Amino acid sequence: MGIEAVVFDMDGVIHRGKRAIPGAKEAVRELREAGKEIFFLTNNGSRTRKHFAERLASFGINVPLERVYCTSYGAARYLSKEMPGCSAYILEEDTEEEFTKAGIRCVQDEDADAVVVGLDRKLTYEKLSVAFRAIMKGAAFIATNDDPSYPVEEGFLPGAGAIVASLAYSTKKRPHIIGKPEPYMLDLIVGEHGLRKGNALMVGDQLSTDILMAKREGMMSALVLTGVSSRAEAMEGKISPDFVVESIREIPGVVREWEESTLR
Ligand SMILES: [Mg+2]
Repeated sequence: MGIEAVVFDMDGVIHRGKRAIPGAKEAVRELREAGKEIFFLTNNGSRTRKHFAERLASFGINVPLERVYCTSYGAARYLSKEMPGCSAYILEEDTEEEFTKAGIRCVQDEDADAVVVGLDRKLTYEKLSVAFRAIMKGAAFIATNDDPSYPVEEGFLPGAGAIVASLAYSTKKRPHIIGKPEPYMLDLIVGEHGLRKGNALMVGDQLSTDILMAKREGMMSALVLTGVSSRAEAMEGKISPDFVVESIREIPGVVREWEESTLR
């Protein structure tokens, strides 16, 4: 039995900020040539699917929109199923299009039916107050992701989790989380493309999201060391990936070797 599909996280795996990680394009091409199905699954919810597909294309990775999963798309899908036609106050950046497409009305006041929180880099105390009041009035509290930080060209910045935590703390309510390590986004891929988790490899840079989800869901997992988590953390053994590699460049080789060793 081989690996049929490879699911890549983006930040810290494919790129850091605007810079591609060396070998990313070649690794994806090689896996495709070996017949692997390729998907991208990012916890980032601050842009639309279209934007992430364009970002991948800017790194030389051309992939149809339907294979790019971001948490703004996930949150929109979730709301359209659970609360069809609802209104939502969105603490994210350029994502309105994703919600409008799913039949969600984007509003700017505390009477919203749902509050969607993610990484809003233009966050103000006023916006936080509207979100707080809406949640206190009973709006559904949805977080696109709960990442504590994310990698950029030079180091790290606070992630969506920092904003989610401030609302959870002040409202004393728990958010419903769309992104990894929750299985919701992965299940969308399963539903839309027939992905078989047991025959898929997750490639990520973060133990507490990418790798934890893979372990819980019965996927194989590979940690790359170009992002958040270190080899030392992987060796602590709390969440152990099947493979630890320096970068995405090594993934085609890891897949090949693993398949050769199990088919032998
Ligand atoms: Mg990442």
